[in-house]
Amino acid sequence: MKRSVLLVLALVACGQTGPGSEIQLATRDAAGSEFACRHCGRNRIDPALVAALQELRNLAGQPITVTSGFRCPEHNRAVGGACHSYHLTGQAVDVRCDALTPAILADLATRVPPFANGGIGVYPDHVHLDLRLKPTRWGNWHESNTLEVTP
Ligand SMILES: [Zn+2]
Ligand SMILES: [Zn+2]
Repeated sequence: MKRSVLLVLALVACGQTGPGSEIQLATRDAAGSEFACRHCGRNRIDPALVAALQELRNLAGQPITVTSGFRCPEHNRAVGGACHSYHLTGQAVDVRCDALTPAILADLATRVPPFANGGIGVYPDHVHLDLRLKPTRWGNWHESNTLEVTP
């Protein structure tokens, strides 16, 4: 059946994690474990993401908690992540900050160039940030002052 063939093709495509999978582990960084897969501990986080998050932390001046960083394919499936999720290549992070609402935190992230040029999604309890090279915004930014990315 045509439908089954398409499903198989989709699963095959899903198994490819792309060039990001070649990125070396940043295990020397003691803080690196916060980005590790929550289910198996593997850590293929992109150092560029770690640097961008540090910039956001400096801007926020408040503790920011990583709730999800790198996800292996098994874990990504378990949490219902998109099969092309940037978490799979270590180029995405989910964060929250007790002192700031997700919308305000997302707004701050637009001042960090790698995130401004990437994906920022506002969720009720966290903000998703990724390094896609196309400014993409989603979720409810209502509490934030600005919707637009500052050029
Ligand atoms: Zn895992
Ligand atoms: Zn995410």
